[in-house]
Amino acid sequence: MIGKKRTMIRVTYGVVEIRVSKIPWPFPSWVYAFVVWPFIFYEPKAWGEECVQVHERYHWMDQLRWLLLPWFLVYGMLAIFYGGRERHPLEREAYRRQRECETQAQGPT
Ligand SMILES: [Zn+2]
Repeated sequence: MIGKKRTMIRVTYGVVEIRVSKIPWPFPSWVYAFVVWPFIFYEPKAWGEECVQVHERYHWMDQLRWLLLPWFLVYGMLAIFYGGRERHPLEREAYRRQRECETQAQGPT
């Protein structure tokens, strides 16, 4: 393990994941991970979060299916009409998978 502030890279099933100290502008401050196929960028606090990885890898697959540029165009247009997070149509399935992962991680009660 190298220093906390340094960039780290891992490759999982063809997904190239990069840890950065901060997600840059134009992303809002509450965004701590984002996908530009074939890369996923994470802030340190999200780097080890398995369920955030489930969420982001869903977008990764989505971008692969749609091809990159159409995905960003459609994502941006839908964000104007629907807003961000779970209101956004392309986020619903990602958040559903993240919650399912989090439920499983808690285990039986
Ligand atoms: Zn998302």
